[in-house]
Amino acid sequence: MRSNGGLIALVNARVFDGTGRPLIEGGVVLIKGREVVEVGSRGSVEVPEGAEVIDVGGRFVMPGLIDAHLHLIGMRTGDFVKEPLLTPYDTFVARVVRDLEALINSGFTTVCDAGSVIAVRLKPALTEGTVVGPRVVAAGMTLSPTFGHGDTHYLPIDYVDVRTTKLLTPLASLICDGVDECRKAARHALREGADFIKIMATGGVLSQRDRPEYRQFTLEEIKAIVDEARAAKRFVHAHAQGAEGIKNSIIGGVKTIAHAIFIDEECSALAKEFNSVIVPTFSIVEKILELGPKIGIPEWGLRKAEETHKEHVENVRKAYKLGVKIATGTDFCGGPLKHGDNALELKLFTEKLGMRPEEALVAATKVAAEAVGLEGKVGTLEKGKLADLIVVNGNPLTDINVLLNPNNVVMVMKEGNIVKNILK
Ligand SMILES: [Zn+2]
Repeated sequence: MRSNGGLIALVNARVFDGTGRPLIEGGVVLIKGREVVEVGSRGSVEVPEGAEVIDVGGRFVMPGLIDAHLHLIGMRTGDFVKEPLLTPYDTFVARVVRDLEALINSGFTTVCDAGSVIAVRLKPALTEGTVVGPRVVAAGMTLSPTFGHGDTHYLPIDYVDVRTTKLLTPLASLICDGVDECRKAARHALREGADFIKIMATGGVLSQRDRPEYRQFTLEEIKAIVDEARAAKRFVHAHAQGAEGIKNSIIGGVKTIAHAIFIDEECSALAKEFNSVIVPTFSIVEKILELGPKIGIPEWGLRKAEETHKEHVENVRKAYKLGVKIATGTDFCGGPLKHGDNALELKLFTEKLGMRPEEALVAATKVAAEAVGLEGKVGTLEKGKLADLIVVNGNPLTDINVLLNPNNVVMVMKEGNIVKNILK
């Protein structure tokens, strides 16, 4: 890693800046310190004397990719019941370090950790450069009601809650019921360093005794949590699969809605009215259906995925057609749900939603930046934005699959620092 307080000019670039303006052939991206200072055609951007000039050989340059919902928990199987109980906590931490490297090497410059005790505590190591990886926007511990999606495997309740457990696992929760407990849990998450608050608004696929359509936190509880988040200038991201929980979340002020399996027209209208962003996380569903029993996904989880996946795609496609904002997020956790393969979600957006490749790129950059609370800072290449960008072999606008191979991501710049460079 390097730090360059001076000027860098990427020249001879095919620039997709993510703002909606046409592709710039033979373009220049000028970076000063941490920020982009100018983007344009060779003739329109003057490269100052003394700038370090990097000729990218006509390659595709775009904003760094963003995964708006994943988990940095170091899983190496799909067995969410046994593996966390039988693996030493520190082993998970070591694996997360490797997963962060895989993420940055595959072109992800920002990821949103939607629940992990590890991610929030590794952030100082990332900031100081001891660990190399993308910028992490972290929830830390998730808030769940008793008998909620985060009431992990219904272990003795003292073991589930991070405040009382003697058996710390990466997915330990904050169990809270009623407005007062929810406020206190939100404050606890903030105290532990949460960049945003993650809540369980409905049941889910990988929680044995509930179902995606079950409503979990009530509207009053959600409003209290959102109020605490806003008081600390932060936002809320909800696991919300059933329509009732999606509606409660949006009306309650939740910014980002993950999964959205049963999103209906009313939910879509509300999402547009309240400017919420949907992160459908098709990738994990795809992997559960493809690999399920082989990687230890419990039978009940596989069954629920099989029961809901078709409707999920149809419902999100309708929401997309109605103009709801949709961002990429994989829900990957490591191992067979592999960090480094996260560009799969872009491919699935083109296949399942009928997005054009440029729309999938925007969903993974500009819209995803909004989903993680970094709009205005990252997600496009324009003056004043942090210099997060990637240089790619091939053209993702004609073949989105080029992004799925990390070897095609030949340069990665995060906040002006070149963290990967295999450009020949
Ligand atoms: Zn998740």
